[in-house]
Amino acid sequence: MTSDATPVLEADGLTKRYGRSTVVNAASFTVRPGAVTGFFGPNGAGKTTALKLLAGLSRPTAGTALVNGMPVRRAGLDARTIGVYIEPCGAHPGRSARAHLLALTRIAGLPRRRVTEVLNEVGLEDAAGRRVGGYSLGMRQRLGLAAALLGDPPLLVLDEPVNGLDPAGMRWLRNLLRDRVSRGGAVLLSSHVLSEADKTVDDVIVIDHGRIRFQGPNPGALEELFFDVVEGAER
Ligand code: ADP
Repeated sequence: MTSDATPVLEADGLTKRYGRSTVVNAASFTVRPGAVTGFFGPNGAGKTTALKLLAGLSRPTAGTALVNGMPVRRAGLDARTIGVYIEPCGAHPGRSARAHLLALTRIAGLPRRRVTEVLNEVGLEDAAGRRVGGYSLGMRQRLGLAAALLGDPPLLVLDEPVNGLDPAGMRWLRNLLRDRVSRGGAVLLSSHVLSEADKTVDDVIVIDHGRIRFQGPNPGALEELFFDVVEGAER
């Protein structure tokens, strides 16, 4: 796995414009292996757009995103390199979770046994045969995470994975992510639940109005940091 010094994910001047509005504005930041990096910002700050650019789901207007030093479009969506969960998860509501994941393994050229393994890992084994349309938000989150884990990638990019999880689900997700980074993996996640994220993240990135306002280690008082950065920028 990559050494601690080498970022697994690197944004350099990343910019996305929709018409005349600049949604992500010359954003530069890095994500290192062995750490959970939290991506924070008010609604509309540009988090999801930036995550899509990093995951190769959207093309930047300017700037670059690198995964393991390679332009994201080349690293592409190889399920063994990067696992992405950004809503909507793409599962047909009339399909079962198992059928959805089996289709993804075929597309990615992964062994079928991975479906059972990830279903167990996210605790959906008992619901795996049920229609996804009948799932709760928390179950859909687990399914999205299962899809991201299929290729057992060293890098996970997750957009608000905590949303809809109950307290036990939050603790379970925290342990899952901490376990992966303790084995050298990297996680970039966005969240609005700062109290939970405070317990989970090692590094912090704050984005506001498309601009990166802060990057650094989690000081352990995330809410204070968040409001200092966001409200400080408005003063
Ligand atoms: P966040 O995830 O931080 O809430 P988003 O990245 O979803 O923010 O959105 C940032 C801004 O970009 C919002 O103002 C949103 O309306 C706008 N936006 C997002 N996607 C598009 C799109 N496809 N076309 C036009 N505007 C968009």
